[in-house]
Amino acid sequence: MAAVALPIPVVVTRHQCPFCRITRAKREAMVAHIARCWQNPATRACKTCVHYVPPEEGPYPEHPGWPEDCDAGVDFGDQPAANCPSWQPKEA
Ligand SMILES: [Zn+2]
Repeated sequence: MAAVALPIPVVVTRHQCPFCRITRAKREAMVAHIARCWQNPATRACKTCVHYVPPEEGPYPEHPGWPEDCDAGVDFGDQPAANCPSWQPKEA
């Protein structure tokens, strides 16, 4: 009689970003990510800046919402800016 095939549990090591909590299999990939993570204050990106205004939904479903914005007047397109000269920390 053939042995029953059972799944073998495997424990893997992954590397997590301390700022946004995503993980990568390779440590080098995570080191590279942390350097440009938008949640990392050292990146001086919009998501950690006091001037960042998050997007808002419209007041009712037919009304368009408002896109994310910068109250320091910095213009950004689809990608929030990094290493911004107007960046100031969100938490004082
Ligand atoms: Zn991150």
